[in-house]
Amino acid sequence: MVRAIQFIDLTDMRRMRIAGSFHLRAREQAGLFEMHYLCPCGCGHEGRLLIGNGHKPGGKRASWKWNGSKTEPTLLPSVHHQGHWHGWLTDGYWETV
Ligand SMILES: [Zn+2]
Repeated sequence: MVRAIQFIDLTDMRRMRIAGSFHLRAREQAGLFEMHYLCPCGCGHEGRLLIGNGHKPGGKRASWKWNGSKTEPTLLPSVHHQGHWHGWLTDGYWETV
């Protein structure tokens, strides 16, 4: 399992390049966030997820329900990164399927 470490600063996250680290950016609509994350496999690729605090956002774009924790985040459903990593983010840890 890979720990998901929150970065307050997106630039710092990109500089440190720690697999599974993430940055949350609040969107204008209340309760919606973009989660920028570095692929847990360690390849260094960055992904972005639309997440809702306590709910799965509607609309056409893929989205995830987030438990609202910035230190031990959980997302549902599972995350599929660019077709090569698939797993779950649960209580602050990425776990490969
Ligand atoms: Zn990867």
